[in-house]
Amino acid sequence: MAAGAGGGYLRASCTVDLDAIRENVAALRDRAGTAEVMAVIKADAYSHGLVPVARAALDGGAGRLGVAVLEEAFALRAAGVSAPVFAWLATPGADFPRAIAEGIDVAAYSVSQLEEISRAAAAAGAPATVHLKADTGMWRGGATGEDWPELVTAAYRAEREGLIDVAGVWSHLACADEPGHPCTGRQLAVFAEAVDVATRAGLRPRLRHIANSAATLTLPESHFDLVRPGLAIYGLDPMGPDQELSGSALRPAMTLAARVVQAKRAPGGAGVSYGHRYTTARETTLAVVPLGYADGVLRSASGLGQVMVSGRQYRIAGRICMDQFVIDVGDDPVAPGDDVVLFGPGDHGEPTARAWAQAAGTIPYEIVTRIGARVPRVYVGNGAAPSG
Ligand SMILES: *Cc1c(COP(=O)(O)O)cnc(C)c1O
Repeated sequence: MAAGAGGGYLRASCTVDLDAIRENVAALRDRAGTAEVMAVIKADAYSHGLVPVARAALDGGAGRLGVAVLEEAFALRAAGVSAPVFAWLATPGADFPRAIAEGIDVAAYSVSQLEEISRAAAAAGAPATVHLKADTGMWRGGATGEDWPELVTAAYRAEREGLIDVAGVWSHLACADEPGHPCTGRQLAVFAEAVDVATRAGLRPRLRHIANSAATLTLPESHFDLVRPGLAIYGLDPMGPDQELSGSALRPAMTLAARVVQAKRAPGGAGVSYGHRYTTARETTLAVVPLGYADGVLRSASGLGQVMVSGRQYRIAGRICMDQFVIDVGDDPVAPGDDVVLFGPGDHGEPTARAWAQAAGTIPYEIVTRIGARVPRVYVGNGAAPSG
């Protein structure tokens, strides 16, 4: 659990099972049918580790990698990852010349962004590979129906001038985690129309893509040429709180654990942690666990989150602090150095990231992505070798 590779000492650990990542990607690839899989590994692969996850996902059959910002794509290239990478979030002044030089696909949300990319391509003397973003009803990034004709016309012109290659037309779904939500059908219809408009403007996008994890798993009509699952490759269920997937073959890859710092007897009536929001009911043992909100253990789970020690679950007693929290273990023989599992796949009786999300009033995405840099990552599974 909290043991380091080779049995070395660790205060706490975030263990990532690379076999699980590889197998989850393979399962998603099956689900995607003829569509290609772009494994979404933004935000340090949802805190699982950018480069090890990139390699495991490619091993599992992902044809491409997706990240939010260019810095993430550059980090992949610096680590020697040469697979196709798409980075979709850039502000004016972003390093498009370097993206072009490193063969990174970029997104254009607007004519002005397309012009900036074209200028970078002209300076670089090589075309930029671009995916045009349609806002099909999420009202986040992308060109709305009103601006789309102008964007595709400008793209066609830039393509004719040899400045860009329009590889894709794409969008993003707002409500795919709520099956049957009317927004999804509308977005798919608007997307089909946007592809039509692009085609009529003379573009021949090879990659039409809109599906996130939820859509990849539940909405085959959204798969088009490429799917972009993120959360599901980490083995977590992307569906809303009351919509849990049944019979999914996905396996959570991350286990968060720590070791007990101290265990001591306390009398009944003892106020525990900041603000004394928990009071012992009777004489009991309190154990200190060295992970806190600076490590991503969300403070909103104070008094609610559960952890497992020696096969039994205990609730957090009182407030989660920056570096530590306390559990009340009654008369159980918990001792310094014992393993405490906060969450994992759930098959040894430990809580899951989904249970923590419920306790913290958030979604599993936030539970895993918040795990801080102070928690050592431990890789297990095939491909976890140091040379990996
Ligand atoms: C994060 C993200 C994804 C992946 O979403 P999941 O819900 O984790 O599958 C796909 N596409 C875009 C544009 C994203 O920002």
